[in-house]
Amino acid sequence: MAKVLINEFAVAGKKVKRTYAIYGGLVPPYTMNIGSDKYIMPGWYKLNKDEDLPNIEDIAFYPYKPSKRPLPEGSIGKVYKVLSSKGDKEYEVNYNATGELECSCPGYGFRRKCRHIDQVTDESL
Ligand SMILES: [Zn+2]
Repeated sequence: MAKVLINEFAVAGKKVKRTYAIYGGLVPPYTMNIGSDKYIMPGWYKLNKDEDLPNIEDIAFYPYKPSKRPLPEGSIGKVYKVLSSKGDKEYEVNYNATGELECSCPGYGFRRKCRHIDQVTDESL
């Protein structure tokens, strides 16, 4: 869902200047009139009566990006061996079927994350 954010700059002696930014969504910004109401889309931001329709070029657009990075090539089924911090044990980190990293250490069992996974992530990306 797209969100419209507004910044206001008060310039001495002048009208407040507003700038807009759209976060999320995949549709680039556009403006729309419904009756006498003016909207910035997507996000259904209704402009105040005293606001002028902004130029489309003046609306910053930050489209939605999937946060998950693509998996490195050939990583599914690959097992990374990582030494424990003391160096006396070896844990196995691997991608499961859903593309999440799993670790065989006890810490991962509790927290669903651990430094071994961080280590693999750092090395493989
Ligand atoms: Zn671990």
